[in-house]
Amino acid sequence: MPNSPLSILVTGGAGYIGSHTVRLLVSQGHRVVVLDNLVYGHRQAIVDESVRLVVGDVGDQALVRSLFKEHSFDAVVHFAAFAYVGESVTNPLKYYENNTSEPIRLLAIMQEFGCRCFVFSSTCATYGVPVALPITEANPQQPINPYGQSKLMVEKILADCAVAWGLRSACLRYFNASGGSEDGLIGEDHDPETHLIPRVLMALTGEIEHVDLFGTDYETPDGTCIRDYIHVDDLAEAHLRALEHLASGGESISCNLGTGVGVSVKEIIAAAEEVTGLKVPVRIASRREGDPPSLVADPSLAATLLGWRARHLDVREMVRPAWRWISSQHGGRYSKNDL
Ligand code: UDP
Repeated sequence: MPNSPLSILVTGGAGYIGSHTVRLLVSQGHRVVVLDNLVYGHRQAIVDESVRLVVGDVGDQALVRSLFKEHSFDAVVHFAAFAYVGESVTNPLKYYENNTSEPIRLLAIMQEFGCRCFVFSSTCATYGVPVALPITEANPQQPINPYGQSKLMVEKILADCAVAWGLRSACLRYFNASGGSEDGLIGEDHDPETHLIPRVLMALTGEIEHVDLFGTDYETPDGTCIRDYIHVDDLAEAHLRALEHLASGGESISCNLGTGVGVSVKEIIAAAEEVTGLKVPVRIASRREGDPPSLVADPSLAATLLGWRARHLDVREMVRPAWRWISSQHGGRYSKNDL
């Protein structure tokens, strides 16, 4: 029954992609409880009063068990994770604990309560360096850093749980999440912020002096890296579809979430200049370690399985809400008194 209201636990629902998804789920009539430890999430990112925010860890089994008792969840949407690739290289155990061990403890509670629908935030980082472009789901999954490994392990665990106790899951492999809500109420606020689009815009507000352009000698048409930037509201829509697919008895799926459009770093800078009418201060820097030259999704499987396609294909549609958010009075930051 895809359209009947579901009771959903959203972990990491106060984070960037989670908070946009929570708003969409609520707008569709679903009942949402957010579990977020607010290490990177923000209390103010939960804007709907009907949403209960529980501050705590995904791996806290006593807490999660009490929530399952109280709310009898039909499904879990699991966003909570650390996502700094560089940090995952220097501190892998932090990533394996948070991104792999904690979900194992959550899955154990789901098994205990017979909750068998799980939507999982996976990543194109599970592919490592792609063997062919655009990247299809048939590309071997060979991550080149612990972050990607920590996510791939969960994908494998989900497949084993499917066999053992009938869990059905959707592994959604995101490409580069970007943009923000149209009404400007929520947006991207990472601390530290490492992503290209916000950093380009922060260089325009003066929050940083310039944006570093990591490498101009890649084997790409303009020498800079190519990525597939996907609007966060399009990601949210895919989660809704995946959830309804599983809730109506659909089989487990794994699919890419991208636009299929590759955009270079230089093209992002040009788009930002066009949207804002300002000149971006750029400093040419050396390559950032671990950056593959080009990562572009083949998004056709998600279209087949979920009837989902990205609505925003022009990167200016991602830059515009990001600029509205960052150039607003609050400077793209939720206030600090949110703990
Ligand atoms: N990038 C850059 N300067 C920055 C941040 C990123 O040139 O300050 C480049 C980076 O090398 C990559 C692309 O922009 O090619 C997207 O990087 P981001 O960190 O946003 O996402 P990733 O693809 O690493 O997940």
